[in-house]
Amino acid sequence: LAFRNDYSWEFKSREEIAARSIRAIKNHIDFLKTDSSFYREYLADIDTDSITSAEDIALIPMTDRNMISENIEKFYAEKPQQIVETVLTSGSTGRQLAVVFTEVDLDRLAYSQALTFNAAGVTNKDIAQILVSLDHLSFFGMAIYRGLVTLGVNTTRVGIPSIVEQQNYLNRIKPTILVGIPSFLKKLGLKLAQEGFDVRASSVQKIFCIGESIRDDSLSMNNLGKRLQDLFNAQVFSLYSTTETSVSYGECTERNGSHSQPELVFTEIIDDSGFPIQDGTPGELVVTPLGVEGMPLLRYRTGDITFKIPESCSCGRNSDRIGPILARKSQVIKYKGKILFPRLITNALDELDFIEDYVVMLEGKEAPSAQISIHIASHPSKVDMIHTYLRKNAKVTVPVLISNVTTINSIRGNTNKKIRIIDKRLQQ
Ligand SMILES: [Zn+2]
Repeated sequence: LAFRNDYSWEFKSREEIAARSIRAIKNHIDFLKTDSSFYREYLADIDTDSITSAEDIALIPMTDRNMISENIEKFYAEKPQQIVETVLTSGSTGRQLAVVFTEVDLDRLAYSQALTFNAAGVTNKDIAQILVSLDHLSFFGMAIYRGLVTLGVNTTRVGIPSIVEQQNYLNRIKPTILVGIPSFLKKLGLKLAQEGFDVRASSVQKIFCIGESIRDDSLSMNNLGKRLQDLFNAQVFSLYSTTETSVSYGECTERNGSHSQPELVFTEIIDDSGFPIQDGTPGELVVTPLGVEGMPLLRYRTGDITFKIPESCSCGRNSDRIGPILARKSQVIKYKGKILFPRLITNALDELDFIEDYVVMLEGKEAPSAQISIHIASHPSKVDMIHTYLRKNAKVTVPVLISNVTTINSIRGNTNKKIRIIDKRLQQ
């Protein structure tokens, strides 16, 4: 089946999208009341006829990760024979959740990811490399793979390559697109350059970044994004998705915020008390994925802090756009009495090429307050430089403990995932 972006509402007027979204939410609630044993109870008092505006939607109870974790069986579709795939959530905190998909969900997911790449100008003339894990029940690699293939892109499943392998792939397959975690791609680019490979002259034109932000709260490229762009002489794009929700937000060719697909997700940003926040102001991203069968959700609190971008985009799409993920809500901390986003620390450390690996530890008994320490695999002579850099770029002075890659891996619990922040406060 050929990919068609005209099924999407993204080019409809903002008024038309708003009206369709309200109808879609009402249909979704009716579906949940019939097909989800959790929501049948949870939404018993909600009468869909009374929902006529976004303000009405804002009064419907929300769903959070704990509710899913404690009632997971009740969130699953009631016909287990329809389930065709199971994945596990990643994430550094809490128990991993098993998320299930029906065949319809996988098609929906493929379409969603394909729309995102399509908006960024990717076409069936492109050749893509997926540089994230495609096994271990992971979601992202699978989702991206399905999206690119749906769009007709010649797609290669690379995973985590050695330098020799990557040189070989770049020479022989000549990918125009890379998809991966930006700090990893930066390291890969640096190592290739060290080996004498002309990275800037490679076939790569676009790099899609997941898992870490490449922009700051003014939508300017941060140093990680700039370095990556410069290293590969390519354009970098943000991609955001979460395993629980199967929704996708991505930058279009204008690279000015990440577009939603309004027919597939209803997007809200809320303040600390759970009320909608003004566009442009950071708050928690709350999403209602539309059309999901396996594990449908309503007003799901992602725990990610970002903001909505007010105006329509110059690309012509009128879908909601969000900024970069500024922090995880649970990781907004108070350090020495001041609010701090630990991501500022990780962004700063990601820019220092002499750091082989690191992990930021948050400890303490009274969240949101935290004590911070950073374990870094680097030469001891670099400590002063790290302190200076953190003061300048993250406006913070924290203890830096020189360590090594093996120790840092064992602090992480020897997982394959490059967890950057370990929040011990949540385990107390
Ligand atoms: Zn756009």
